[in-house]
Parts: sequence; structure tokens; C-alpha cells
Amino acid sequence: MKQLFNVGKLIDGTGASLQEKASVLVEDGRIVRVAAQGQIDAAGATVIDAPNQVLIPGLIDTHFHLFLLLLQPVGGAAEVTHMADEMIATKVFKAANAAKVWLQSGVTTVRDAGAGEFMAVAMKEAIRDGYTPGPRVIASGPLIAQTGGFRPGSGSHGVEVTGVDEARREARLHLKAGVDVVKIYGASTIGGGGGRLISEPGWTQFTVEEMRAIVEEAHKPGRLTSCHTGSAQSIKNAILAGVDFIDHATFMDQECIDMLLETNTPIVPTQAIAWSLEKFGEKMGFGPHIARKSAEVSAVSMECLAKAYKAGVKIAAGTDADNPHASLAKECELLVEIGMSNMEALLAATKTAAEILHRSADLGTIEAGKVADLVLLDKNPLDDIRNLTSVSRVFQSGKEIQLPLYDLSGFFEKVH
Ligand SMILES: [Zn+2]
Repeated sequence: MKQLFNVGKLIDGTGASLQEKASVLVEDGRIVRVAAQGQIDAAGATVIDAPNQVLIPGLIDTHFHLFLLLLQPVGGAAEVTHMADEMIATKVFKAANAAKVWLQSGVTTVRDAGAGEFMAVAMKEAIRDGYTPGPRVIASGPLIAQTGGFRPGSGSHGVEVTGVDEARREARLHLKAGVDVVKIYGASTIGGGGGRLISEPGWTQFTVEEMRAIVEEAHKPGRLTSCHTGSAQSIKNAILAGVDFIDHATFMDQECIDMLLETNTPIVPTQAIAWSLEKFGEKMGFGPHIARKSAEVSAVSMECLAKAYKAGVKIAAGTDADNPHASLAKECELLVEIGMSNMEALLAATKTAAEILHRSADLGTIEAGKVADLVLLDKNPLDDIRNLTSVSRVFQSGKEIQLPLYDLSGFFEKVH
């Protein structure tokens, strides 16, 4: 099947400046040519005319949790529903809804940063095989934590090990289960999951040797590793262990920044989650201490992040969303707040994200040979990054996603 997109404006995600009146030819789900309008032979192609719209690459959320996103059902009265004591089937239906919501907001790929029972791997396969719509999933397994490191009661979202041998064994089980990114839990941060404080943010966990064993195992079959970090020491430990990218990187000091640069290790800072908990935490049923702690952490980590950005650390956009307020558009807005241009923030959610996830051959830009994950916006995000919420049509591998699955218009007005 051939499709020709004739668009008013094109931002191809390579970092090149916006092109007016461009055409993109797609064949069987792949982009085959990008050119000025009128230069491509459209014979036999379905033409998608969007003279007033902006075409961007499908967005990539480098840190998402399909199984943690708290959503109200369509037309439901509750702001959120809680996960405690849910049956597996309930969790799966909710994850399917989370997938739909993120997809319709223009996110065509997510890296699921951890779920129990390898459920993110199951979602990856279910979405890939067409059982339910959603972003393509790059999956982590449960977070591998040190014994005593993970919040009691949320065991299924993490798994605890002691020592190099157990760490190595657990990593091998993750590879067997089909995870793409083995996720290490290198520090406690705000809540330990579910909104309960288990320690002051920054409790460093695991030894470098334990983490290095996990990294060694993951790299053997060419898989990636990431590490949930908080304290400066936990970030340094993850770098020393050779982790491929750092989640959160909440409290970076100058030595962290230097080490990130020396080793060319990227970070996925996830600012939207703290922002959303600060603004909406209480309304969503978390205690006031969570909003307060989020505000404190966010103020410091935004400062650290601004320094890291200025120094040249590679940064990708990830939401860590456990609630829909922490959208990828909001994360990009916060990246602009730390100093990025609108273009750089957009690249953090497209090209850079694909690079960090080792998927640049297929994803992240609108270029010949790439998968046709495409989003049409009504407004230009280079004028105002918040225009990333003006999603009009979403195409995944060239196939249009039928919108709206959820009516998000009110939601985004409320949030932005
Ligand atoms: Zn997370």
C-alpha cells in the first residue's frame, strides 16, 4: 500500500529546520521518500492532504509504565483508581487503556521501564500481534532490586536479589523472558512506587559489582540495561557498572556530570512525574507528604538537570507516568524550562530517544527507510512546545489510529 502525505509543514526529527510544503511517500508501512511537494509521483497512492498541519515523527516515551498508569474509565467518576489488590485481568485491561491513551497522544513507541511478572513483555507481544492497539513496546521486566530495597507490598513490580551470583541469575531469567532493557533499581527515590515514602530520596542501593554482573549478562545477547537512580552516588555506581542509560538521575553533582560526559552515558530524567505529583498528588489520593516531597525534589533536580544539559549530557524524554497528567508533552515542556530549545525538546522525544534505545535504524526521524510512525499536529511545536498536545492524526507503521479512543481535549486543557 502506498500513501502520500502532503503537509503544510514538516519537522523530520533529524534536527534540520522545518520544511514548508513537503511530501512524504510511504510504502507498506515504511517511509520511502521525503521531498518538496510536487516532486513525488503519487500514482496509485492514497493521498493524505494536510495543508494546515505539521507532520512530526511519532513520539517516543523512554520511561513509561503501562501497568502503573492510573486512569479513570471513560466517563468514570473517579480521578484515578488504585492498584492495590487488583486481579491480573484488571491490571491487563488497565494497561491496554494506558496504551491507547499514550498512543492517541502521539506516542507511537514506549520503553516500559518495569512491570511485574514480565507483563510488559506480554504487552509488547500483544500489541505487536494486533490484539490491542498501543505504542510499540520496548520492554523491561520487574526492577531488579537489592534485598530489602523495594517497597514492601509492591513485590510484583520489583524482584530482590543479594550478591553477584543472584544478580547474574536474575538477569539471565530476564533475558529468557524476552526483556529488551534489563532494569536495575539502584536507589530509592520519592515513593518506591505507590506513593509511600520508604526513605529519604537518595538511598544508594546495590554494589557496583552486583550491577556490573547484570550489565555483563544483558550485553551478551546485545540487550540494554538501565538503572533507576536518585542520589549522586547511585548515578556514579550505575556509570561505573557500565549501565547503558540512567533513569531519573535526580541528584547529579559535578562529578556525575563529568562521568556521564566521559562515558557518553545518556540520562532519562522524568521530570513530569514529580511535577504532576506536586500539582495533582493530593487530588489523586496521595498524601500531602508526596506533593511536598515532589516539590522539594523537583526544584533541586531541575537545577541539576539544567547544569547537565548545559554541559552537553545526552538527554531523552521520559514521563515515568503513573498518572495522565505526566504526559510526554509536559515532559518536553519541562525540558524547555531547563534550557532546551523547542527543537531540542522535540528531538529528546524522537531522535535522541531512538538512539538511546538503539532503534535509530527504524524509529525517531522521518527519513527514507524508517518505519512510518507519523503524527499530524494542528499547531507548530517550534512556536510553542505545548503545541505537542494538538495531536490531530496518528499513524503507526503507516496505519492510521482511529481517534478519539478517549476524549483527551478536556484533560489537556486542564493540565496545560
Ligand atoms: Zn519508572
